[in-house]
Amino acid sequence: MTYTISEIAKTLKIKEVNNPESPISHLLSDSREVFNPGETLFFALKTANNDGHKYVDELYNLGVRHFVVQTIHPEWKNLKDINLLHVKDSLLALQKVATFHREHFDIPVIAITGSNGKTIVKEWIYQMLGSEKNITRSPRSYNSQLGVPLSVWQLNENTELGLFEAGISMPNEMTRLQKIIQPTIGVFTNIGDAHQENFKNLKQKCLEKLELFVNCDVIICEEGNKLLDECMEATCLSQKSFTWSYNNRSNSPLLILKVEKLEAKSFITYSFLGLPFTVELPFTDDASVENVTSSIAAALYLTTSIKTIQEKVKQLEPVAMRLDVRRGKNNNIIVNDTYNSDINSLKIALSFLGQQSAEDSPKRTLILSDILQSGFSDEALYKSVSDLADSASIGRIIGIGHHISDQQKLFANIPHIFFDSTEDFISSGIWNEFHEETILLKGSRHFEFERISELIEQKNHETVLDINLDAILHNFKFHRSRMNPDTKIICMVKADAYGSGSEEVAKILQYHKCDYFAVAIAEEGVVLRKAGIKTPIIVLNPEVSGFNQLFESYLEPEVYNFRILDAFIKEAQRRGISDFPIHIKMDTGMHRLGFAEEDIPLLLERLRSQQALKVKSTFSHLAASESWAFDDFTTQQISLFKKLASALQDGLDYPIWRHILNSAGIERFPEEQMDMVRLGISLYGISASGLDGLRNVCTLKTTILQIKHLKKGETVGYGRRGDLDHDASIATIRIGYADGLSRQFGNRNGHVLVNGHLVPIIGNICMDLSMIEITGLDIKEGDEVILFGDELSVIDQAKKINTIPYEVLTSVSSRVRRIYFRE
Ligand SMILES: *Cc1c(COP(=O)(O)O)cnc(C)c1O
Repeated sequence: MTYTISEIAKTLKIKEVNNPESPISHLLSDSREVFNPGETLFFALKTANNDGHKYVDELYNLGVRHFVVQTIHPEWKNLKDINLLHVKDSLLALQKVATFHREHFDIPVIAITGSNGKTIVKEWIYQMLGSEKNITRSPRSYNSQLGVPLSVWQLNENTELGLFEAGISMPNEMTRLQKIIQPTIGVFTNIGDAHQENFKNLKQKCLEKLELFVNCDVIICEEGNKLLDECMEATCLSQKSFTWSYNNRSNSPLLILKVEKLEAKSFITYSFLGLPFTVELPFTDDASVENVTSSIAAALYLTTSIKTIQEKVKQLEPVAMRLDVRRGKNNNIIVNDTYNSDINSLKIALSFLGQQSAEDSPKRTLILSDILQSGFSDEALYKSVSDLADSASIGRIIGIGHHISDQQKLFANIPHIFFDSTEDFISSGIWNEFHEETILLKGSRHFEFERISELIEQKNHETVLDINLDAILHNFKFHRSRMNPDTKIICMVKADAYGSGSEEVAKILQYHKCDYFAVAIAEEGVVLRKAGIKTPIIVLNPEVSGFNQLFESYLEPEVYNFRILDAFIKEAQRRGISDFPIHIKMDTGMHRLGFAEEDIPLLLERLRSQQALKVKSTFSHLAASESWAFDDFTTQQISLFKKLASALQDGLDYPIWRHILNSAGIERFPEEQMDMVRLGISLYGISASGLDGLRNVCTLKTTILQIKHLKKGETVGYGRRGDLDHDASIATIRIGYADGLSRQFGNRNGHVLVNGHLVPIIGNICMDLSMIEITGLDIKEGDEVILFGDELSVIDQAKKINTIPYEVLTSVSSRVRRIYFRE
């Protein structure tokens, strides 16, 4: 919609403007996103990191004439025809303008808030209702003080339903968002501890969020969450609520009766006003169940038929939260955005494309499918696309689909080519000619643009640690099958799961019913809890300073001496806790942590004189279980442990579990598995005892950046350490000691694998790069280089530098991207 600058100035209480009839259709806050400058009103915002006033001149030169500013530079006054709307606070002014716009609409408007899931619920409501109604919604997660007004501004004469999310990080922000959105329908996803820092407590945060709904006709939310129920009551909103509940005895109109999870989908049975129905959801995690329930409740409130809901839920698509940038073949950069395909997200993606390709960079190519469900006529829609593409300096547009193809004429001023289908585009082969371009791939799901990205992406053009989740599962099940059915397995996920990433690894193991996890420090446990891990977790090296986290995230500490024991009892008692599980560590010869034999009487006395803690298990750690030479010592450790464990058990009137085996112990002394075992490195595919049947999990790989041909006598790298006594070809690879490649591999001590050839590392290893010698081999720039993996074992690599596989694995630094895959 278009207003005149004088109308807008009036809402800001500014009387005098130049050219009062000038039309304004675009509000701009980011100077890089200019498009249609003639009808743009720029808001110069001051933020912690930037000051929009810096860009006034530049924007003026691009044709922008209308500015909202907090300060006026004298020289701006000389700019012809400029309008400087002087306000105290530009952000507030932007919000006022959006509010003014909102007031022109008498339509239902949904506002979504809550701690998690806002964007997903928004997108899923859209996916459910978008084919029936013209919906204007926030792009991506535009839910802030800035994002909300810009989103609301998108409401237009075709809109039948507004759908906006609102997020806050500080007290008093929600009232401002409420005024802008003026929602008639509220959706509260859930309340959690995100953005806690600026609020006194959860209740304050919850009450603040509910401010969004003060004038709503209805609030859709869960019933049975104590805090939320209380806050809804306190704000008198409960009278207007439309609730759903996990509790099938509650009075909510929508009840979850049953959730049945299968491999890749779940079936949720609801009762709506007593009428049962089942939906098939293509996801299995709890968050998705909750999110889809909120979305279904909203759809039901809007009188969508159950049949439609069932149909749509079955086809719900995952909501990707970010744009992906990848290296493509032929030095292309590919920005992959299949998030959603509407005009607003196109605008954002184009601006992102601008950020990815330098000003003077070569071609920008847009590959775009038909945009579905836009609510505009094709002509109006693709006219805007063409304008957007034009102002984003798109050098070539490739349109795929009948609708966009039918509007070819609108793209006359940009080089273009159109195809009826993705298939036609692929068989044309023109993608082979893309070269040094930045390519934005943006297509509706239905066009399956992933088929295009597969063709043009260079999958391996960086240093990555590939993690084969199927191999981890295989190793887990392999050990499972070798053990007594009752023996519990503790999967060791300390040190970020031996470098492979604890969240991902724990998730898949939890799904396959691993009994326990163990981490080294409390923080590692907290990370897992936040990722949704519900399996019990042992913290091996707890410290007094981390006790809070143990109690709050229900992490079970290893107790290894009286200092920890006493402090822990005291803290548990202070909190009024009873029977908090602990694990007693015995020292049987490792001499690292643990109680000794002579401590047991006193230990029992302490344990018996309190109710706060309860011993869940006792255990010890073997010092040399992998080594035949020390088998006598290992046997001694085991028998000492049995003696100590019995003494502890005898002194307690409830049963405790016992465990001593680590990976090598599991492999070599299976008869000593007792009640539990602690599976570590073997889970990651490395056997200390040469056991057959494990699969390699991690592959560290990189690529060749450059190849040089050097003459005998020249040197390679720092300190001129790489001496050549023959003419040689040298390849520089994209990995160095900052990635975790030990410098000790340098100077021909270590080898890597390229196209099946084992070749030496030459010269000193640098921080980010290393050099290898490839003389006489058929190897080219861009080829993949394996540092360790299926064909080049971590064990062998570790030996080369006199260390153990554990160190090689856990050294891979966090800047190396982890890629998880399943076969
Ligand atoms: C790390 C660790 C393990 C696992 O050791 P692996 O050799 O990797 O199997 C078991 N127990 C304790 C106490 C540990 O610290």
